[in-house]
Amino acid sequence: MVLNKKILTQKKFSQLHRYLLAFFLLYLMERFAQTNSTDYVWPFVIIIPVFTMDLLLSIKNYMNSRNVVYMLRFVEVTVAAGYTIVATAPYNLGLSVLCLVLFFSEYVMAFDFEDIYYRTIAVLTGSIPLVTLLIIDAVISREVKERLFPISCIFILLVVFCTFVITLYAKVVNEYNFQVFAQSRLIEDINQTNEDLRLNQEKVKKSNELLGMQKVKLEQAYKEINSVNNEMMIQNEIVKYISSSLDIDNLMTLITESVLEGMGLDTCILVLNPTEENKINYKARTKYGMNEDKEFGELIEKGYFNNYLADSKVFVDNDANIHKYPLPSKSVTGSVLMVPLIKQEVQIGILIVTHAKKDYFISNVGFFEGIVAQFLVAIDNANLYAKMERMAKHDGLTGVYNRGHLTQRFNEYLNAAILNKTSLTVALFDIDKFKKVNDSYGHLFGDVVIKTIASLAKEVAESSNAMVGRYGGEEFVLVFPNRGLESSLTLVEELHKKIRDTELIHNGESIHINTSIGITSYPETCKNPSELLNRADWAMYYSKQNGRGRITIDSDSIREAVLLK
Ligand code: GH3
Ligand code: MG
Ligand code: MG
Repeated sequence: MVLNKKILTQKKFSQLHRYLLAFFLLYLMERFAQTNSTDYVWPFVIIIPVFTMDLLLSIKNYMNSRNVVYMLRFVEVTVAAGYTIVATAPYNLGLSVLCLVLFFSEYVMAFDFEDIYYRTIAVLTGSIPLVTLLIIDAVISREVKERLFPISCIFILLVVFCTFVITLYAKVVNEYNFQVFAQSRLIEDINQTNEDLRLNQEKVKKSNELLGMQKVKLEQAYKEINSVNNEMMIQNEIVKYISSSLDIDNLMTLITESVLEGMGLDTCILVLNPTEENKINYKARTKYGMNEDKEFGELIEKGYFNNYLADSKVFVDNDANIHKYPLPSKSVTGSVLMVPLIKQEVQIGILIVTHAKKDYFISNVGFFEGIVAQFLVAIDNANLYAKMERMAKHDGLTGVYNRGHLTQRFNEYLNAAILNKTSLTVALFDIDKFKKVNDSYGHLFGDVVIKTIASLAKEVAESSNAMVGRYGGEEFVLVFPNRGLESSLTLVEELHKKIRDTELIHNGESIHINTSIGITSYPETCKNPSELLNRADWAMYYSKQNGRGRITIDSDSIREAVLLK
């Protein structure tokens, strides 16, 4: 950059000295025309080649090469020095000195004159032509003394002047360069700062984008956690209920309600397929209202879902066409999910849920499967409990109430009878000569006899709102709540006859069984209700003692007869 600047300066100077040379050539021509003196001719010999060379070099752009500039200026300095030495007329001398000053200055300026080293070289080498020519001239003309002084003075003045001007110029240029350098540094610094700022801005932008993406991800995660929490809360509620209740009906209501509300569903129905003992059982809930709940239930009852009830796979339709499914008329359905209830590889029911949004059942299918699994556990629990309860209350052989439960229920009836002043009749019957049956036909046949008698008694109990229980080995009790003696007696007589008429076959042999029965009734025959069972027993005992196979109605005389014996 500095070099280019120097070349530009050189070019400017060249222009200047071309004008000067042109001006002096014109002057010389004018003087020659006036005086016709040869003194004005020979300077042409020097000036014209130099002028031409300078012009040519500048046209051809050789000025861009430093070495060419050094050479040209050195030749110019040499020519000017020569002209100074040979010039005699004062104007010639003036002209030559002017040229010398000009060329010398230009020669020095072609160097890196800001540097004292190059400046010294420039001044010293620039002086060589003049000094050399002076010495040659002095030796040849032997007019050393006369010419030496003025020329030396001129030269010294020239050198001092040039040195001064150049030093001043160098200082200014140095200062300028320093400022340019400082400015360029400043600009570089600003550019660097701008670049840093831009990079930082980009980083901030990227960080913001990253933060934005993380925010979206966090929001998504938050939503997922919320929905999982919600699902867990519903499951907790159901688990809590399962562990505290064995009522399947209530549990079905709770499941359909909490799943519908908790998951924001449109409809939810839980169905238990019909079995041999039970008809179809379902709980239907919709977000539309009771009418739609009922409508949904009716669709199930009418068998519109039978296809699905038989399908034992989880069914998901996340792009559901509402008309394809038998749903309540108000349903706006986008997604349908059906989870079968499978117990020991048999489908026992189905959970059907729908949502207005499409693609609703994607990540939450597991939740509904979990609900179904819990419900299945609840059904198992309830069944097990029912079985245990049954076992605890019923006699294993005959299926009628055992003595424990019979006594408990009897006491309840007793209290009710006392409280409501209603009748309570009790009949106790014992198989006659049962030991003999066992001994003759074996215990297994004895069991068949006991079961037959029990089932006949059960028939009577069921048809007359009574209760039958096994009181002992082959002794049974029939309890008739709210039934008086006469009415109960008729039923007991019928039973007695039925037992007696029943033909049991053992190894082709026909066997008939008879029973001895005692009957008593509160308040008719037994005023003290707590004595009821005892009085029935005494009456039965009376039958045993008086021929067996008969029915004895309790009375005080019977009681006394038995007790006195
Ligand atoms: P009766 O009552 O007429 O006086 O004569 P009995 O032969 O029936 O006499 P008792 O009532 O004392 O005998 C009851 C018998 O019933 C005794 C016992 O071996 C039998 N027994 C009790 N429970 C069962 C049972 O579950 N199965 C069978 N096979 N026998 C039973
Ligand atoms: Mg007995
Ligand atoms: Mg007996």
